[in-house]
Amino acid sequence: MSFSTLGLSEPLLKAVADQQYGKPYPIQQQAIPVILSGRDVLGIAKTGSGKTASFVLPILELFHRTQAAKTRYATVLVLVPTRELAAQVAGVFQEFGNALPERVKTVAVFGGVAINPQMVAVHGADIVVATPGRLLDLLRANALRLSGIEILVLDEADKMLELGFAEEMDAIFDLLPRKRQTILFSATLGDAVQTIINQNLLHEPVRVEVEEEPENLDLITQTAYRVSADRKGPLLRYIIKSQNMKQVLVFVSSVRTADNLVVKLNKNGIRAGAIHSKKTQGGRTDALADFKAGRLNVLVATDLIARGIDIQFLPWVINFELPRSPKDYVHRIGRTGRAEAAGQAISLIIPDEEHHFYIIQKKMKKRVTMLESDEIDLQGA
Ligand code: AMP
Repeated sequence: MSFSTLGLSEPLLKAVADQQYGKPYPIQQQAIPVILSGRDVLGIAKTGSGKTASFVLPILELFHRTQAAKTRYATVLVLVPTRELAAQVAGVFQEFGNALPERVKTVAVFGGVAINPQMVAVHGADIVVATPGRLLDLLRANALRLSGIEILVLDEADKMLELGFAEEMDAIFDLLPRKRQTILFSATLGDAVQTIINQNLLHEPVRVEVEEEPENLDLITQTAYRVSADRKGPLLRYIIKSQNMKQVLVFVSSVRTADNLVVKLNKNGIRAGAIHSKKTQGGRTDALADFKAGRLNVLVATDLIARGIDIQFLPWVINFELPRSPKDYVHRIGRTGRAEAAGQAISLIIPDEEHHFYIIQKKMKKRVTMLESDEIDLQGA
């Protein structure tokens, strides 16, 4: 199957080719025709599946067909859990939107930065990509209205609910026109997502789903080291140096550990930065940009960015500490081995974590080779 059979018109097909997209990914094959038909969609897909383009392309196609730029108010609202995802999704809309002959104005709005420039920016926007809290702030300030919304997308709905946005989302739903198309994407169909589905948010949705996890995990070589707590830091540095890692994402479970680790790594001549919720928006954007551009070799992250952020060809992920949930473990290591490129995930396991690591392996139905680290000489690491 090719993109040209999905009902997209020439400008978008050209843009897809320009982006070097080959064949449509399974989620795109399923979702694009359904969205074009105007039906609601319940999509079960995670980052890396190509889900962003699976709603961006048909939405732009519908926009193109109806020449929607006639209304005064935004016609598309995309709600996302994090600032980073807002910027990323808006970027995809802009990239493809530029290919259309009509002018499409997409604006990303999110908290953590000054509201005033966003109040100006949303004026005349056709597509608004927003985190729920900031959107409400803008609505309260009368900077935009939702009465013209024809399409609502909830991207990573499970993550939004996990982050405690349920109330804000409800407040937003109340302000939306009842007659609209609703598209909900979630990595999982947990209870929280089920609850909002049960609120009749979606009208007879078509369910689209990709069974993609096992395939993805097969692309990832997983190993783990048994290590004592006091040797963890040196072992991390040893692994980074001995493998000559140029781009590695290191996951930790707290902001404090992230900051401490960065200090230690830098002291030892390893260029590292951190990205977590206590950083300013500017600090987060810079760290991610520096990491992507190779100015930082190590990015230390909390689970904040375990999902949603697209870093292409990330060769290494290290779990300095294990996440609580097996799902988060899979999301973390899923940052590597994407788009058919091989990746490696390494976990550093202290005795206290061994049982939990066993549970994680059981849940993901994969055994991970455990290596002993006692014999490794960590002097100088
Ligand atoms: P997403 O799951 O939306 O974050 O997309 C993951 C990555 O796959 C992004 O870097 C996209 O640019 C890329 N991508 C999406 N669709 C395709 C496709 N059909 N062919 C190749 N790459 C794609």
